[in-house]
Parts: sequence; structure tokens; C-alpha cells
Amino acid sequence: MLLEILNVSKTFADTPALREVSFDVAEGEIVCLLGPSGCGKTTLLRIIAGLETPDAGQVLFEGQDLGPVPPHQRDFGLMFQDYALFPHKNVFDNVAFGLRMRGQSEAEVEERVREVLTLVGLQGFEQRSVNELSGGEAQRVALARSLAPRPRLLMLDEPLGSLDRALRERLMTEVRDILKSVGVTALYVTHDQAEAFAIADRAVVMNAGRVEQIGPPEAIYCCPATPFVARFLGLTNLAEGTVVAPGRVVSAWGEIAATTDDHRPGDRVSVLIRPEAASLAADGASREDRSIIRGRLTARSFRGGRYRVRVQPEVGPPLTFELTVVGALPVEPGDRVTVSLDPAGVVLLPASDQG
Ligand code: ATP
Repeated sequence: MLLEILNVSKTFADTPALREVSFDVAEGEIVCLLGPSGCGKTTLLRIIAGLETPDAGQVLFEGQDLGPVPPHQRDFGLMFQDYALFPHKNVFDNVAFGLRMRGQSEAEVEERVREVLTLVGLQGFEQRSVNELSGGEAQRVALARSLAPRPRLLMLDEPLGSLDRALRERLMTEVRDILKSVGVTALYVTHDQAEAFAIADRAVVMNAGRVEQIGPPEAIYCCPATPFVARFLGLTNLAEGTVVAPGRVVSAWGEIAATTDDHRPGDRVSVLIRPEAASLAADGASREDRSIIRGRLTARSFRGGRYRVRVQPEVGPPLTFELTVVGALPVEPGDRVTVSLDPAGVVLLPASDQG
């Protein structure tokens, strides 16, 4: 492993910012640190960069303990949300800055600047003042500047945070493509799960200084390890429950069919009904393998090709579903509805107080 974070802890005054955080990053991998504000993401980046010292634990790079290595000797690149391009320098001089600091010859600097500007799609922008750039262009100049010295590790802290949603969506894929084409190893901090999922090979989900789950985006979305991760991903159909028999679980929504592979009768669990697990069923429907939930539709919104609906069941808290239907949804707010649940979409997580 190129980078190893081993049991790193850090407390500021009385606030534990990091609690025994461990994970590793392979060469060429893009790992996203994902979590709500204040969960310790930036503190961890600062420790890896050498700008902060951990209270306990170690950071290893190529097997070497980074503790005694000062920040400037780590050869890591950093890119922050307020990437602070030098306003009085043009694009070329901004990108050249780190190379000149390293004492490279002007010929080498020129070649490398052209190379990275081409990489980020800004060839021909060399003489442009940085005050005459769009938000997306400025962000790409900042990326070019941090990539120019060929950092052994690139750390990006909310690099798209100040951009509007549409531009962010476009740049997510671009940033991933650029990082992958260079093959740089990257640690990318964001609180936006869509951004993390679009960019990461693996994501590390953090909560209050702890790692909740590590894995490829698909695995995290498919199988959140804890109720916190599920809620953070916007999965809100959660309730405490108990496994009563193989394939059956009881919760606030009554007894329903679930995937109980890893559990035994009597286990206390959190029940997650995935929003896409439901489909509209005929009234009076009943099938042994699927559970039926009856209730009233309280809201619906068309999402193009599917509807997001809210249902108040006869028993239990409200549920949100994503329904795929051909044509218009045949029910409106206020109508009675019957939905059937695919047991593959009824997932059991550790009970809240065990997570
Ligand atoms: P954000 O997304 O808002 O930047 P974050 O996940 O990066 O949040 P950190 O900035 O790492 O979180 O902060 C973690 C915790 O440590 C917070 O409670 C924060 O208030 C606290 N903290 C961070 N730096 C310091 C500091 N220098 N002194 C005191 N407390 C700090």
C-alpha cells in the first residue's frame, strides 16, 4: 500500500476530531473521504500533509513513518476549496509557480506547464489573466497547478465546493478522468455523496471522527454498514426491528419479508427498506414472497422516468419510494395505495445502539 493511516487520533481541546482512524490507499487509487461537516476530514488531510500532528497513531508512506518528515519534504500536492490562484499572475505563471520553486529551468517549466494545461483542456490559456476565467476554468487551472510538480499524493479538500450544482456535476467526471489519465494517487474530501460516488474508486464514510464504512461506492450504496451511513446517503426508510424467522422481520411496519442471510431469529436489527424496492400492486394483492404495505399516498413528484412518492402506511412511520411506472402514475395524493416490496430491497443493518 502506498499510504497507510494507522489508528490515528486527534483531539482539539475537548473535541475528539479523529478517533482511531485506519485505512489505506493503493498507488493510483482515488479515495474519497465522505462525511458531514465537522466529522474530521480536513483534520485528517492536514495530518497527512504534516500541517498537524496526531495525538496517537501513524501515517506511513511507502512503508516509511511520515512523523519526522517535514511537510515540504513529503512531495504531496494540496488543493483546497478556496484554491487561491495568485490574482496578479496569469495562468502560465500560476501553474509554473511550484515548478519554479523547485528550481526547474525555464525550458522544463514551459514544457510541463503546456503539458498540464493540455491535460485539463486549457491549452492556449497561458497568457490569460486569472481574473478573466470562469469558475470552472479557474478550478481547472488550480488542478493543473497542483498536478504540475508531479506530487506523489494529491489531496483535494472540497475542490468543487464553491461551484454551482450544474458545473459541479460536469466537473466531477472531468476531475476523475484527469486524475485517472495522470495515474496520480488522490485523497479527495467532500461532504457530497454524489460527488464522492462519481469520483472515488473507494470511499471512506466518516462520522464524528470515526470511520463508519470503507468500500467502493456501489458497495456502500447497496449495503450501508450502519444506520448513519444509510441516512447520510438519503435512505430514510429505517426502523428498529427483530428477526422473527428466516426471511422475516418485525418492525414498526409489521412483519415483512427481508434478506436475513447473516442473521438469526431473535437478532435485533435496523430495517432499511430501499426506496426502489417497492412497486404498485393491485388492491387486495398478496404474494407469499413479497410483502404488501397498504396506506395513503401523501406526496408524489415526477423525476423523469420514475416518481418519488411518500406513503403513510396504515402502521408505521412514513415511507419514501422511487416507483418506475410506464406512463403516468395512476394514484394521486390522498388516494389509497398498495405497494409490494421486493425482499431483496429490505436490508438489515446493525441496530442503532450497536452501530
Ligand atoms: P468541514 O467539512 O466543515 O470542513 P471536516 O469534516 O473537515 O468539516 P474538521 O475541520 O476536520 O472537519 O474538524 C473536525 C472537528 O475538529 C470539528 O469539531 C472542529 O470544530 C474541530 N477542529 C478542527 N480544527 C480545529 C482547531 N485548530 N482547533 C480546535 N478545534 C478544531
